[in-house]
Amino acid sequence: MEQHTNKNWQLNTLLNHPQRVSPKDVNPSLLAPIYQSVKYVVSPDLSFGDQFIYGRVSNPTIRQLEILLADIQKREDCIVVSSGLAAITGMLIGLLKAGDHVITFKELYKPGRIFIRDTLPRFGIKSSVVALNDFEALEKSIIPGETKLIHFESPTNPNLMIADIESIIKMARKYNVLVSMDGTFAGLHQHQEFDIDLMIHSLTKFANGHGDVLAGSISGKKSLLSQIRQITISLGASLDPHGAYLVERGLKTYSLRVSRHVQNAAAVSEFLSHHPKIKKVFYPGLNHHPGHELAQRQMKDMGSVVSFILDDQYFHQAEDFIRRLKLIQYAVSLGATESIICPTQFFFGDDLNEVEKEQMGIGKNSLRFSVGLEDERDILADLEQALR
Ligand SMILES: *Cc1c(COP(=O)(O)O)cnc(C)c1O
Repeated sequence: MEQHTNKNWQLNTLLNHPQRVSPKDVNPSLLAPIYQSVKYVVSPDLSFGDQFIYGRVSNPTIRQLEILLADIQKREDCIVVSSGLAAITGMLIGLLKAGDHVITFKELYKPGRIFIRDTLPRFGIKSSVVALNDFEALEKSIIPGETKLIHFESPTNPNLMIADIESIIKMARKYNVLVSMDGTFAGLHQHQEFDIDLMIHSLTKFANGHGDVLAGSISGKKSLLSQIRQITISLGASLDPHGAYLVERGLKTYSLRVSRHVQNAAAVSEFLSHHPKIKKVFYPGLNHHPGHELAQRQMKDMGSVVSFILDDQYFHQAEDFIRRLKLIQYAVSLGATESIICPTQFFFGDDLNEVEKEQMGIGKNSLRFSVGLEDERDILADLEQALR
């Protein structure tokens, strides 16, 4: 709408109505501007549907990021929300209703697993949890007419198990069930070719890549996303435009960062797998990893999270090792520039019983290592001195 700024307005009026400056269409800013505005001047001439009105519903900076994420993942559309977990919970509530049933896997990211197990039943949504790639158990747990969704992750957190995506999709299609996948550990550049109905990413990790923004995305079929968008708006899970800008800025160097992360992680996994004080290493790039062959078929690269178990002969608990590290920091999260490590039992297994933890390779000497972008020699030297 035309602006009627009047230089004769009083100080407080002028301060609150500065002359707007927008570049002409032939002279746009090369980088996306941050629309740090909650409100838009509504044009009375157009239908409401085509306009930006209120920041909780939509914002041009957020929308630009959504379109970019849909395009790079080769999906129809995308919704960006305020965290990876908001993407998971928003998707579940958006798709499911009382009487529905959802199936997920023991190896799922803990907060998602807890939400499905403890919160969804309060709304009449039942769930079954089976072991990843146990297709007999998966098929048995499907309740025809009630099961609406199979939700899985690959590679899984914390021990990098690889889901047989093709087989999960095949099973879901047989029973007319939707499939959602959390692809955070693999990254945005992988798994595009699979017919996943909804793909989740925590943009907090590799997409932003610098550990200074929480954000998440759900991409996939338009018809399903429109159903989910109503709920993410109702939940108020909107991302701040400045956060969206930082994610988009991070994405410019995505490929460069990911390739260095992966290169460093491959070196770390090799080093650890040959070290006598390490009992076990979980990295899909290693020949002996149970998901190695599947990963080679499904993935372009093996990611940069390496989990491992220290040998009980030398270490009583993971913290003994962490205390000796000088470069690698004790922190959670992953996919940012710094190398960080954490004991898995406190962060990913405290809701599981001893048998379940044992099955998942989570014990007092288990660690998850997100390999950063430092010089490989310094990372290896830090591990070496701490193991000595
Ligand atoms: C971190 C993570 C999430 C949650 O993302 P936030 O942005 O921290 O809310 C979900 N799934 C996986 C696999 C993750 O690693």
